[in-house]
Amino acid sequence: MTPDLTPKLPGQEPDSAAPPRRESRGPAAEPTHALARGPVVPPTRSSEGFLREFLRELQYGQGVTLARSSPNDQYLAMARAVRHYLMADWLETARRRREHPAKMVGYLSAEYLLGRQLDNALLATDMVDIVQEALAECGISLDTMRAQEVEPGLGNGGLGRLAACFIDSLATLDVSCVGYGIRYEYGIFRQTFVDGRQVEVPDTWLSFGNPWEFPHPEREVEVNFGGHTEQYTDEDGRERTRWIPGWNVLGVPYHYMVPGYQNGVVNTLRLWSARATHAFDLQIFNSGDYAEAVRAQTFAENITKVLYPEDSTPQGRELRLQQQYFFVACSLKDYIDQTLPPDFDLKRLPDQIIFQLNDTHPVIAVPELMRLLIDDKGMEWDEAWEITQKCFAYTCHTLLPEALEVWPVELVGRLLPRHLEIIYGINERFLEQVREAFPGDELRVRRMSIVQDHPFRAVRMAHLATVAGAKVNGVAELHSQLLRDKLLPDFAQMYPDKFTNVTNGVTPRRFVRQANPALSELISEAVGPGWERDLSRLSGLESFAEDPEFREQFRQAKQANKERLRALLLVRDGVELPEGHLLDVMVKRLHEYKRQSLKLLHVVTLYESIRSGEVAAEDVTPRTVIFGAKAAPGYHMAKETIALINAVAKTINADPAVKGRLAVAFPANYNVTLAETLIPAADLSEQISLAGMEASGTGNMKFALNGALTVGTDDGANVEIRQLVGDDNFFLFGMSEPEVAALHASGYVPSQVYADNPRLKRVIDLIASGAFTDGDPGRVSAFVDDLLYNDRFMALADYQSYIDVQERIDAAYADTEAWTRSAILNVARAGFFSSDRSMHDYLDRIWGAGIRL
Ligand SMILES: *Cc1c(COP(=O)(O)O)cnc(C)c1O
Repeated sequence: MTPDLTPKLPGQEPDSAAPPRRESRGPAAEPTHALARGPVVPPTRSSEGFLREFLRELQYGQGVTLARSSPNDQYLAMARAVRHYLMADWLETARRRREHPAKMVGYLSAEYLLGRQLDNALLATDMVDIVQEALAECGISLDTMRAQEVEPGLGNGGLGRLAACFIDSLATLDVSCVGYGIRYEYGIFRQTFVDGRQVEVPDTWLSFGNPWEFPHPEREVEVNFGGHTEQYTDEDGRERTRWIPGWNVLGVPYHYMVPGYQNGVVNTLRLWSARATHAFDLQIFNSGDYAEAVRAQTFAENITKVLYPEDSTPQGRELRLQQQYFFVACSLKDYIDQTLPPDFDLKRLPDQIIFQLNDTHPVIAVPELMRLLIDDKGMEWDEAWEITQKCFAYTCHTLLPEALEVWPVELVGRLLPRHLEIIYGINERFLEQVREAFPGDELRVRRMSIVQDHPFRAVRMAHLATVAGAKVNGVAELHSQLLRDKLLPDFAQMYPDKFTNVTNGVTPRRFVRQANPALSELISEAVGPGWERDLSRLSGLESFAEDPEFREQFRQAKQANKERLRALLLVRDGVELPEGHLLDVMVKRLHEYKRQSLKLLHVVTLYESIRSGEVAAEDVTPRTVIFGAKAAPGYHMAKETIALINAVAKTINADPAVKGRLAVAFPANYNVTLAETLIPAADLSEQISLAGMEASGTGNMKFALNGALTVGTDDGANVEIRQLVGDDNFFLFGMSEPEVAALHASGYVPSQVYADNPRLKRVIDLIASGAFTDGDPGRVSAFVDDLLYNDRFMALADYQSYIDVQERIDAAYADTEAWTRSAILNVARAGFFSSDRSMHDYLDRIWGAGIRL
């Protein structure tokens, strides 16, 4: 509920009652002492130097002696000590960018799934050995310190992780970039299982203190909401519009360091946190209702309270639109008012910045910039629109029509009345152009309109982004093609040059170097140091695939990673992984289109074939299947699937008939930290979405780079992975996208597939009988009925093909040398999937000239 507040405070003297404000500008006088004038001096790079920093932070920062300190004290102190080593570079990078302003990337993303910061900082500063030695002097283990950190889970999955990889790469390439986002007080929920069912627990990641952020309350900005607009005539006699907001909040920026890889560059990630405005509490305060004033405070701060745990489906909630507008309004204001020089001519804005829209979440920035230019800066519409169109580019992340965000007109009008007017203004002019280009085609006009009428009046954010954006990109070749041909075909016809592709990538720093030290060492020995910055050099591994000694070392590295995973899962989940198994891993968000259900059908097929005696246990390639997946809390079918996976795992792991041959593990709370241990240990990477549904995937890239072979459909970036690693080193199965389309068109009847395939029938019947649910068929009926009578993502249609390819995989894994050879070739040929390469593509195809490399 919106408290009925107006920011105008009639008849009071705000200064006497308002909370004190701090100045945001620094000293004007020149310092006299040399220390105060010179550049920032980093601490000494030695274990003694680090020890000094650490103890100072412990004693003066935490206020405890080493003897009395808790592991959390030690972690906070050591993190701050590590931070000191980045600080000089951070300040220097900022100074350099101020003094030599070049065009900058403003990456706008509602999510950043950063993962733990400590190791990343140690890697960026090349300090692991120094820190380890210094801590050892204090009897502290670095691993214990690492384990103290709760990862900042400010994202749901792939989209948020992509943003984190991109800002890492931009810092490593020394591109001027500020990442803008939201500092959620509660990130993605912590997943626990109760009787095998997902239970969500709030993620209190800030509760022990966060040494990686720098709040800057003196740089707060005001964000307005609600109210109405009115027309007036300005001094020059021009008709103008003014927004009279109904309420407002403050955005406080929190800065995070984004270090490049050992290159002296540290960029900034600026995350916004909502606070109540002073006016806001003051008015109620003056009414004498203290409790009400505090309630208002809470209301304002709710905006950045929690990350919406939805993935691939927009949850149409008012608070979410508030979050979106809040963070882009803060970011634009911060950039225009605080980053640009005060006398900057805004006509030149496109020479200074390109805002990349990570999906539609930040698209409300488009009318916001128009509003700033027209209402606040007095520009004419046409000029403002010309500038706006050059300042934004849009990345689409989906192919699911239901995942395209729309906001009810009623809601936008109530929350952002001026923006709704501007959106109508944009739409009116745009539809005129459509009518001009396609006379008489009113159906097309309706299809393309930014404002839809059916099933309810709403703003189509993807259309707005496509009309406004200088470029629109998909995230893998196939996705970009389907984006043009199927999702936005009218727009592709109208603006053929707008559409482009940038295939996603992942940062090799975190996902190879940091996550897989054993493999990294091997790579460095083989191709020399520095590949972390130029991943194309992995191709130098190609010839080593033929070297039996290297293959043996490669296997040993994989084995070491499996041991590390075993140790982790034992303490983390109380799970004991069997030894010597093929490790078959499917980790990603739980979604029907990703088809965890198909993987589950395979697991039950293996189980049933051993149980029934169809194959002798000793003829089976021993396999452990690991799942990791969170389901959106309101996504019923996804949660049913989780419950069933856990039920199947429990049954299989307890059955002596399959012991030593088949095991299933489902560690709870899949996150970046778990991914970093799981992925390097995997032999087989499961990328089995229905073709035409996964935009790109980035998990698939992480696995290939860590020497797992992929079993996958011809979908997303799998297509490019297969092209690069070669058909012999990739297990392709299932329908292609055109085949899927054809089956849709001809009418797909899953129950017929079931009836026609005796093996599939046995497997589904076994599940349906309650064999995994204590004899209770009721607990599986939703899952089974959906497969038989709906199966929107055609798991049954691809079942036989999947079983067949898995049998080939069993045989292939038995040939150890050939498997290792393929695994090495996967690493050697996957260098393309570095997010550094993605950034080069954005620079070439989207961000354009003016960005200095
Ligand atoms: C990489 C990553 C993802 C994305 O995985 P996909 O298989 O591409 O969906 C999701 N979550 C985490 C924690 C990741 O690290």
